[in-house]
Amino acid sequence: MARSISYITGSQLLSLKRRPNIAIIDVRDDERSYDGHIAGSLHYASDSFSDKISNLVQQVKGKDTLVFHCALSQVRGPSCARKLVNYLEDVKDDAGIKNVMVLERGFNGWEASGRPVCRCNKVPCNGENASGVS
Ligand SMILES: [Zn+2]
Repeated sequence: MARSISYITGSQLLSLKRRPNIAIIDVRDDERSYDGHIAGSLHYASDSFSDKISNLVQQVKGKDTLVFHCALSQVRGPSCARKLVNYLEDVKDDAGIKNVMVLERGFNGWEASGRPVCRCNKVPCNGENASGVS
């Protein structure tokens, strides 16, 4: 069950985001609390990611596409995506997850392109407070 990780651009994600079968996984650490986030994204900080992979797999039940990102999606995002893929291979159960992706340029690129940023404090974010960059 070799699985590759592909990249997705912000504009591709924006059009896919409305689909119910996609989950966005934010693996930034403290930055999420003060920089805002992509509406509806789940938060699994990279520093505790390995311990929480099984929780994540539970939480995304029914989703077939996971999109990981960190601030720039250069280190933490891709490495957490890889950890998830390795985990699914280890347990020999893909949990219905078909696509594992990384958001190009991460949250910073998303925000810099003027895409909607949510600044709610809800856990999990319900994605209803998205607004333009303030
Ligand atoms: Zn939110």
